[in-house]
Amino acid sequence: VILLILLDGKKYRDELLEEYKNTIKKENLDIRLDIILVGNDSASEIYVKNKLLCAEKIGIKAILHPLDENTSEDELIDLIHELNEDREVTGIILQSPTPESIDFDKCANEIVSNKDIDGFTKENINNLYHNRETILPCTVKGIIKLLEHYGIALDGKNVTIIGRSKIVGLPLALALENKNATVTLCHSHTKDLENHTKNADILISAVGQAGLIEGDMVKEGFIGVDVGITRVDKKVLGDFDFESTSPKASYITPVPGGVGPMTVAMIMDNLIFTKKREKR
Ligand code: NAD
Repeated sequence: VILLILLDGKKYRDELLEEYKNTIKKENLDIRLDIILVGNDSASEIYVKNKLLCAEKIGIKAILHPLDENTSEDELIDLIHELNEDREVTGIILQSPTPESIDFDKCANEIVSNKDIDGFTKENINNLYHNRETILPCTVKGIIKLLEHYGIALDGKNVTIIGRSKIVGLPLALALENKNATVTLCHSHTKDLENHTKNADILISAVGQAGLIEGDMVKEGFIGVDVGITRVDKKVLGDFDFESTSPKASYITPVPGGVGPMTVAMIMDNLIFTKKREKR
């Protein structure tokens, strides 16, 4: 029988936010976060509200720039440039996804790299590629920080990641490679997914398909990190079928309460990192 430990992101987030709040107060850090939200995607509205509330709770000024669904790329880029030049602004987030008419990557890349709190600009991705100090994408940083908090070593581990998006799976693969893990990156064209999941010491799923990973696809004692979010009625489900996978796990993230809260906390972590770097 394996003793199961829940990777409690919610609890750790609360500890981190307390720590950040104290740091901001003690070091008198004057931090401002500006979030640009284009259109009215209902999930995005919830995420943005969480980010704003979280920032304010720990003493970070947070300003929302809601833009109309029909905003042009030029108008959006003008606002980004204005915020880039504003010395009061510490960090800028362009909330994803943006409406079809806007090229998200192109616009996000207009954010000056030292205010790029999501780590999506070319310069920050290049830093990640070369394993240099950088602003790491928040979900990636949150996963690594959560694993480290529970004393889980990455060096030499077989890590399988499912999902290769530019915001989660792909940068996560690079970041874990930088930590000397042996990374397998699976996606929608992967054949026989279970061949790759069964071999994983650490299995991370970022797909968004509830119950994709079942108990017979994982190895005894594996460590599970579930990034997936699927809303069914009022419930939030992850990619792991918790009932069949958790009995085989040594550690596993709950959904909700695992990776999600860590992601929001890492926005605050990146803002503090940026502010301190600006000062040195
Ligand atoms: P995405 O849609 O951009 O990418 C999904 C990936 O899954 C793709 O790379 C695709 O190839 C792969 N995929 C799809 N079906 C597959 C299958 N059957 N087998 C293997 N791979 C398959 O999504 P994303 O933006 O990376 O987000 C993924 C999930 O994570 C979503 O549910 C999203 O809501 C969630 N998410 C959570 C957080 C968090 O903080 N918890 C942050 C970001 C995203």
